[in-house]
Amino acid sequence: MSNAELLGLIEEGLFFHQRPQEWHMAAELLQRLFVEQAAELAPVRVMAETIRDYTGAMDAYVQRTASGFCPRCPEVCCLAMHGRYDGLDLVYAHALGLAVPDYDEGLKDHDPCQFMSEHGCITARPLRPLRCRLYFCNPLKEHMEKGPEAPYQEFNALLSEAKGLWEKLPAEMVRIGARLTTSSP
Ligand code: SF4
Ligand code: SF4
Repeated sequence: MSNAELLGLIEEGLFFHQRPQEWHMAAELLQRLFVEQAAELAPVRVMAETIRDYTGAMDAYVQRTASGFCPRCPEVCCLAMHGRYDGLDLVYAHALGLAVPDYDEGLKDHDPCQFMSEHGCITARPLRPLRCRLYFCNPLKEHMEKGPEAPYQEFNALLSEAKGLWEKLPAEMVRIGARLTTSSP
């Protein structure tokens, strides 16, 4: 896979459940790029670190609020297709040097996520796909709105900042990645 192909896939989204073979190739190439071109990719790493800090600051509130609400949910959103990294998650994980999860490729899109247990998600929060960390269904948001105002407002501000960076991360990766070269595997 060339850099140009990789960047095209990241722009498209590159969902594991749609294109697992290309996803694995992209993961390998990104791992190399973030080692070999660490200085050039520093701005991407800084964006990923800032998303990590914002989402980390939201964690206690989200954990507390969702744990009192999601167990009663009649239609849990944790499906296999939602629990898998897309191209942007790969950029985020490799920018931070995080391990990429190992997926059960036999699962269908609408099967329960392999990381769901009777006690909730078994994946550490920093390693979950960003959509798992930044998506909140309307009933959960309404539940949050009815709770204490100050922590909800703080959460909303952090969420807005994290989402803004999440949306900008692919363009930043593509902008810098277009100038990079990498060695053959
Ligand atoms: S986030 Fe919403 S849809 Fe997902 S488990 Fe919680 S209540 Fe259900
Ligand atoms: S929160 Fe955990 S269990 Fe739910 S979809 Fe994401 S990775 Fe899977």
